[in-house]
Amino acid sequence: MTGCEPLEKKKQQQHTSVNGDVCSEAAVEDAFDHTYKEKEGPKPPRVMVWRNVILMTLLHIGAAYGLFLIPTASPSTLLWSLVCFLLSALGVTAGAHRLWSHRAYKASLPLRIFLALSNSMAFQNDIFEWARDHRVHHKYSETDADPHNAGRGFFFSHIGWLLVRKHPDVIEKGRKLELSDLLADKVVMFQRRHYKLSVLLMCFFIPMFVPWYFWGESLWVAYFIPALLRYTLVLNATWLVNSAAHMWGNRPYDRNINPRENRFVTFSAIGEGFHNYHHTFPYDYATSEYGCKLNLTTCFIDFMCFLGLAKDRKRVSREVVQSRIQRTGDGSHRSG
Ligand SMILES: [Zn+2]
Ligand SMILES: [Zn+2]
Repeated sequence: MTGCEPLEKKKQQQHTSVNGDVCSEAAVEDAFDHTYKEKEGPKPPRVMVWRNVILMTLLHIGAAYGLFLIPTASPSTLLWSLVCFLLSALGVTAGAHRLWSHRAYKASLPLRIFLALSNSMAFQNDIFEWARDHRVHHKYSETDADPHNAGRGFFFSHIGWLLVRKHPDVIEKGRKLELSDLLADKVVMFQRRHYKLSVLLMCFFIPMFVPWYFWGESLWVAYFIPALLRYTLVLNATWLVNSAAHMWGNRPYDRNINPRENRFVTFSAIGEGFHNYHHTFPYDYATSEYGCKLNLTTCFIDFMCFLGLAKDRKRVSREVVQSRIQRTGDGSHRSG
């Protein structure tokens, strides 16, 4: 635990505090802003980003072809694809999400380098941009200022938001966010400066090269399965958190918000489907009341703490969770 007590009340006070003595982690702007109001009048026109439409279409066609190639791949290649899936997923969940967007724990330099490399393997925009968009998502959830506003439907919150220009409010609110912690993180800034090269290496070259070099897999199969298919699966697993977990599932912690507890998403996104809990307590490193249960990312962070590579995991106390369930839950809470 840090000196910043992970109590809901104290956190809210810290968010509103303007004196300089709050812990830097507490300055993370991930609490919902009730004061924001969408602008009246007609919505701005939707502007397509055709480059992304074409790239995403080609990527998904390539991934579908990769599925057909699975029977021709060696078991080692399939195992390697799974390893790449888990590594890149961790780069998003343990890295861009829980560490850099929410500052839910602290990571040593070697771990931050590892997570930044894994994050480049996931190729979902650099950490700085990902974390900025994600803080805006929490702060202005389901409004015009939410980059993947689930109020605009499943398709928009899943992939559509990447195929059109951002709503002006997303850009405006993103610019006003407090991001000094990210700007001060040398690993984040280094990854941002060398992002294209790191993606080329981590997302495509290494997933392809390893099976070809070490066990003689064909470059064709190595390109379509561990690189393209694996990349597409990680993308969709992440997007499901924004789409499915904002639409289907229970709301045991806060019935007044859209995000839900979704078991399928929990499984596919290695622990990120406890989304009603997560939006209620965004600073909890486990993103769930249940710790490691169904939560590979939490297990990973715990293991890193065990190795001495991470520390200061923030957790919400049982009493705070219980009182929140009583106060705002939808009555569906089960213990365990
Ligand atoms: Zn969300
Ligand atoms: Zn989050």
